[in-house]
Amino acid sequence: MQIKTTNEMKRLLTEYFQGFFPREGPAPKVAWCTSVGPAELLIALGYKVYYPENHGAMLGATRQANEHMGAANALGYSPDICSYLTSDVGAFLNHQTPLTKAYGIPSIPKPDVLVYNTNQCREVQDWFMFYARHFKVPAFGVIAPNMVDELGEAQVDYVASQFKDLAAVLGKVSGAKVDPERLAQAVELSRQTSVLWGEFLDFGKHTPAPMTFFDGCIQMAPAVVLRGTPAAVAYYRLLNDEMREHVKAGESAVKKEGVRLYWEGMPIWGKLRYFAETLGNMGANAVASTYCNSWVFDGFSASDPYRSLARAYTEIFINRSEAKKEELMAAMLAKFSIDGVIYHDAKTCPHNSNSRFGMPQRLSKATGIPHLIMNGDLCDLRCFSEEQTTTSLEAFVEQLQENKH
Ligand code: SF4
Repeated sequence: MQIKTTNEMKRLLTEYFQGFFPREGPAPKVAWCTSVGPAELLIALGYKVYYPENHGAMLGATRQANEHMGAANALGYSPDICSYLTSDVGAFLNHQTPLTKAYGIPSIPKPDVLVYNTNQCREVQDWFMFYARHFKVPAFGVIAPNMVDELGEAQVDYVASQFKDLAAVLGKVSGAKVDPERLAQAVELSRQTSVLWGEFLDFGKHTPAPMTFFDGCIQMAPAVVLRGTPAAVAYYRLLNDEMREHVKAGESAVKKEGVRLYWEGMPIWGKLRYFAETLGNMGANAVASTYCNSWVFDGFSASDPYRSLARAYTEIFINRSEAKKEELMAAMLAKFSIDGVIYHDAKTCPHNSNSRFGMPQRLSKATGIPHLIMNGDLCDLRCFSEEQTTTSLEAFVEQLQENKH
């Protein structure tokens, strides 16, 4: 089953990327931002926002990452750290980008300023500092409380005050002040995007499900790079209209969906098709994931922009305590009628690998839902064996089918 609205996404993303290099008129001021950083604030300051993690994912998806990591390793960036970072920095050192072929732009856009949030990991700080040194431009960070259990008001205040300080500093750099109306509008557009993105992911509740986790990995691009803009809202309205038609027609993303899986952890970008086909051939569908769900933010509110941004970006799954993650996961497993969980232990992203401290075992015991732990990586395909994975998946899906009978 094909999701036809994807063609519209290609047009939108082409427009987005080409907007960094306009044929006419002045070039935009460019801010680089982490994927769960305060994009709305940057939009309100008049920046066009670029996301290096999206570039890392593209390097992985086009299987170019491994060509470039060595250049970053030679500069002292270990092969064991985030392969988004090493492939992105390596590609930059090698003067290569998949954006040229995909969207016709000559290079990645040069930053005027870089803004990161350590809500996801410390790597983003080191990553952005590399470029700050190279381009001799300022980099600013929001240092989030991490491993948050219940998010308290004091924690929200702490992050909100950093966002306010950031707005003041960025204002000095750009010579522009945050326009409160524009900020409220960007937050509202992000809220709407988030609601619509959540609606899309909820189509996975249908049996059979009309989409897979791997479709979600493709469809999430506007939620990441266009949130805070009307384009993202318009896209997900269109997409969800199409998905309603697929559900009405009883269409299934995989033939004879017999087993429903949950994908925990990062995608393996260079192997999305392999997983979609391999699981599909087994009659198994990964109908939900924590990864795609990470861009569903409950906290956005245009009436209280700074505190709501602080709340939304601090309570993300990756930034929660182990106990809170288990609680959130258990709710997702019930919501999507999951038969089994695949934990991707990503070699270079311990922050988004939740299989290393006993969580799979505890959750299986609590819910009775079996799990499989699979080794791999987001970009570095040297860490992934197709043969071993196929064997493990076959045994796992067979076990789940037997359980169901
Ligand atoms: S969360 Fe993981 S994949 Fe994302 S930037 Fe940090 S280390 Fe890299």
